[in-house]
Amino acid sequence: MRTRRPATDTSEDPRIRRLRRKRPWLWLNPNARPAHEALPALPFGAADLSAAAERFERFGLVLTALFPELAEAGGRIASPLRPVPRFAAALAADAALPPLPGRWLVKADHALPIAGSIKARGGVHEVLYHAETLALQAGLLAPESDITRILAPAARDLFARHRLSVASTGNLGLSIGIMGAALGFRVCVHMSADAKEWKKARLRQRGVTVIEHAADYGQACALAREEAAREPACLFVDDEQSPWLFLGYSVAARELQRQLAELAVPVDAEHPLFLYLPCGVGGAPGGITFGAKHLFGDSAHCFFAEPVGAPSMLLGLLTGRHAEIAIQDIGLALETDADGLAVGRPSRLVGAVAAPLVAGCYTVTDPRMYRLLYLLKKHEDLAVEPSAAAGCAGPLHILHSAAGHEYLRTHRIEPANATHVLWTTGGAFVPPEKQADFLAAGQAVAPAVWAGFKK
Ligand SMILES: *Cc1c(COP(=O)(O)O)cnc(C)c1O
Repeated sequence: MRTRRPATDTSEDPRIRRLRRKRPWLWLNPNARPAHEALPALPFGAADLSAAAERFERFGLVLTALFPELAEAGGRIASPLRPVPRFAAALAADAALPPLPGRWLVKADHALPIAGSIKARGGVHEVLYHAETLALQAGLLAPESDITRILAPAARDLFARHRLSVASTGNLGLSIGIMGAALGFRVCVHMSADAKEWKKARLRQRGVTVIEHAADYGQACALAREEAAREPACLFVDDEQSPWLFLGYSVAARELQRQLAELAVPVDAEHPLFLYLPCGVGGAPGGITFGAKHLFGDSAHCFFAEPVGAPSMLLGLLTGRHAEIAIQDIGLALETDADGLAVGRPSRLVGAVAAPLVAGCYTVTDPRMYRLLYLLKKHEDLAVEPSAAAGCAGPLHILHSAAGHEYLRTHRIEPANATHVLWTTGGAFVPPEKQADFLAAGQAVAPAVWAGFKK
């Protein structure tokens, strides 16, 4: 067998050595640009953001008909924005740090309906886009007609003749599978080795075909893409390059803006908004960052969180090579319990879009994720999965590290005026016995796990 040589010789770069050591790190993005410079150069604009938001609005009645649990929210796929002062206090105590300043909120996408994760936004948007396009082409829907005609038997017959295919570490499969099957599509989900059994079982119950791969996400995705290309009438939902997923995620920023206004939280130059976004391939955090930069401009400071064992977006950003480099190329194995973030290569689409917008990335160890998960449950009664807890380490990096202090200084930020939004991205459907295992793991973590943050 031929031994595979790394695609680039990055061994001399101290930043790469740092990633290889798998210690938590806050990296500040030297390529971040002011929003008014960066946004006009992107392949998407404000009109795309609005079109995605309007699509969700338009389909409200359809979604309510298919998922009665959405009735109360008027068919909106939305999650609460909730103050979490007890979590902030508990985290400071756990890390033996002084009280942590600023306003702390959780954006609770772990509780999103349909998929139980942030994937409900991107995945549902892509399936609705596809269904609408097919129905329009087939003459079953006209631009002004009643959207619920998409639920008629003729439309179901049409969708039954089409297939959706997707590769997933779990949550995207749940989102596409549940939404697709509800409209009548045949759906095939290719699960990577990281995917949890309960996620596969949940899909099979709904008549979704689940194909299990022993390979990691990138390889499962490549196989699924090839297979889908051979079949006519099959849409491959491409997590590594789909604009429809990306734009579906971006709508979350509008929801956040409305909720911040309801809570009377100011966002302006004096009152910066920090978003802490768990990152896998980058679609979800990238889409939200894109939306937030449109709505809040330079008052939004968006940071991506990744496992120390899978820092794919960070590697792509700091080398400038985006999807042309994978963590395996620098000798890292894909190792993390955070299945939602377990990817080795960032999205081809998002890397370049995020490059001028994201403020920085930080990495999180699995024990830290478990500890954060435990503290969220104990002090705020929020039950999340490990991936979803990754974001919550962010404010410690900003408030208690040398790089964080540098960031606050260059942006003239007064910590007491900042709002920290911890984006919890998945967990509502985790079976109780698994949740109990997560909590036990988090409870067992020693406080020494926080060593390294400066007082
Ligand atoms: C997918 C996922 C993310 C990250 O989204 P990407 O688009 O892959 O970056 C974060 N958290 C959870 C729970 C997820 O399932």
